[in-house]
Amino acid sequence: MKKTILSVLTLLALSQASFAADEKPFAIAIHGGAGTISKANLTESQIQQYKDKLTEAVNAGHRILAKGGDSTRAVQAAINVLEDSPLFNAGKGAVYTYDGGHELDASFMDGRTMNAGAVAGVRHIKNPIDLAIDVMKHSPHVMLSGSGAEEFALSRGYQLVAQEYFDTDHRYRQLVKAKQKLMDAQVATKDYQASIYRLDLEYKFGTVGAVALDKQGNLAAGTSTGGMTVKRFGRIGDSPVIGAGTYAENGVCAVSATGHGEYFIRYHVAGDICARVKYQQKSIIQAADEVINQRLITAGGTGGVIAIDQRGNIATPFNTEGMYRASRSNNDVATVMIWREQ
Ligand code: ASP
Repeated sequence: MKKTILSVLTLLALSQASFAADEKPFAIAIHGGAGTISKANLTESQIQQYKDKLTEAVNAGHRILAKGGDSTRAVQAAINVLEDSPLFNAGKGAVYTYDGGHELDASFMDGRTMNAGAVAGVRHIKNPIDLAIDVMKHSPHVMLSGSGAEEFALSRGYQLVAQEYFDTDHRYRQLVKAKQKLMDAQVATKDYQASIYRLDLEYKFGTVGAVALDKQGNLAAGTSTGGMTVKRFGRIGDSPVIGAGTYAENGVCAVSATGHGEYFIRYHVAGDICARVKYQQKSIIQAADEVINQRLITAGGTGGVIAIDQRGNIATPFNTEGMYRASRSNNDVATVMIWREQ
């Protein structure tokens, strides 16, 4: 009798061990923007609010992956949580343009098919990442902009939202301050281009993004943003630009970026990181670190990325004071961080 119980237990243990060995890696990482996130300016309860929302978002994506769902759905679900929160500069809570409106950018890339979709400068789309994914799935194009993108949304049955939906008091206060700073800088430099670069980083950044690896081995990346406070003249940043703010390629890596978009476009940040992994066999940690902490710093570009490789290894380098971020792999618990140490 004892023997039988022992052998049943051994069999059970063995089958569990082989189940663990068969378990395919899956993981997700998200960000809620990088920049001058000063500890002194955040109360304990604000820090907790950010952490709670990041946890909710990473868990929304993780839940889908754990059930065997695909990386596209996981990335979308995580980003939707952040877009719907007024805490982050995407969807509700997007920053204001110079003219007091909101213009949103988003992009998505599927590493399995190398298909991608993006929208730029949309003004009435509650969840721009959804539209970016629909552009990928239901149009022959990669990027749609402005009113044309919204016409496409209507043709897909979207309800447009009023600009006021995106309004928040704290972003409005940022606009007023940023405009004042811009005017002061413009008086000093007599040059709009130079003066915009003088704005403190806290006025520039935000953005949310997610990268995921599903159990089928498919990588995906998405990014959604309100762009830069006080942006003007239809300015578009890196977030909707494939290869700059977003990139995914199965077998290589997936990246979502946040930072000073002009640099991320010119330095082709997301694509450069994956190229280093692909052609130089660098680890995701090294590749992402080289681009963010060497190449970009030398150029004067500020920001960070979340990146994931084919085995589910995650890198989250940033060269700013902080970056809101969270990650969760297989059956681990979520790791949620704002600064370097916590
Ligand atoms: N990269 C975004 C842009 O330049 C801003 C950000 O990430 O905060 O539009």
